[in-house]
Amino acid sequence: MPIAAFAAAPMVDPFGRVIDYLRVSVTDRCDFRCVYCMPEAMTFLPRSEVLSLEEIDRLASAFVARGTRKLRLTGGEPLVRRGVVDLVRSLSRHLGHGLDELTMTTNGSQLARFANDLFAAGMRRINVSLDTLDSEKFARITRWGKLDQVLDGIAAASAAGLHIKINMVALNGVNDAEIEGVLHWTAANGHDLVLIETMPMGTIDDDRVDRYLPLKAVRRDLERRWTLVDLPDSTGGPARYVRVAETGQRLGFITPLTHNFCESCNRVRLTATGRLYLCLGQDDMVDFRGPLRAGVDAAGLDELIDRALLKKPKGHDFVIDRARPAPAVVRHMSLTGG
Ligand code: SAM
Ligand code: SF4
Repeated sequence: MPIAAFAAAPMVDPFGRVIDYLRVSVTDRCDFRCVYCMPEAMTFLPRSEVLSLEEIDRLASAFVARGTRKLRLTGGEPLVRRGVVDLVRSLSRHLGHGLDELTMTTNGSQLARFANDLFAAGMRRINVSLDTLDSEKFARITRWGKLDQVLDGIAAASAAGLHIKINMVALNGVNDAEIEGVLHWTAANGHDLVLIETMPMGTIDDDRVDRYLPLKAVRRDLERRWTLVDLPDSTGGPARYVRVAETGQRLGFITPLTHNFCESCNRVRLTATGRLYLCLGQDDMVDFRGPLRAGVDAAGLDELIDRALLKKPKGHDFVIDRARPAPAVVRHMSLTGG
């Protein structure tokens, strides 16, 4: 049954921020091993630790009942989780009944297979990660990925009617010279583009300090050739958007290191194991899996949500620095859900 427009108290944190966006990692597993995200010999969690699709549905629905307007399924790779389209179909019952948007971040490898189903299940927009258009470089960055497969997936998603935003992690000395090429390609294909600074999460094999590329410098460089018109922030999220006057597309910059976006943060994140993290860059969390498996009722879930909100910190502590070689948080982005 759809949850009617929320009657319970909306979620407001101790700093007065309205929390209306939930990201859910539906699996920590992935078919790629991107160098900035995880080591090649990544160990994944036993399945028993990961929430079932029914548990995810129940939790996400409890958040919708408390005023969550936007849900993003992510991972790991959400499309390698068996039954994820059923989850999308089920969660889409909340669209128009409190929930405005149900979306996904994917590496695109399985999109050719699932794009039509996702659209039919109620999804309208997705983010696809694509750091390069060079197939050899793509293989080097993702270790196990194939560029053609992802490009086919993106084409299938477009054909299915999904609006696509491309996520590109800017990597110094790896893809910095390609940013403009990707900008052209996304414009030609009707996609938006978001550039992301690499964040210090989880141990990886690569050197983050060498790879860190401040997007402030990238923007300055782009502005020599393109007219970037600032857009008012509409997502309440970490991305700052501009319109590229020459192409008409939206270009976003996610700059956790060079610009602290925390003052407008409207989101919380549920891990594949049912922990609610209040900040991507901090360790404050509340476990929902234990109470869920112990039979907590709706009122108990509400109480847990309230307890969690009190823990939302003012901001993250991300620093990428030789003097602080350990990652700011030990968990990988794939567990928390980027
Ligand atoms: N597997 C899916 C994908 O790659 O789109 C979804 C999960 S992935 C963790 C979500 C986003 O986080 C991707 O756009 C990825 O490029 C980005 N990401 C992963 N690790 C990151 C890091 N350490 N710093 C910045 N972005 C990262
Ligand atoms: Fe997998 Fe996404 Fe991490 Fe790449 S960024 S390894 S695709 S979870």
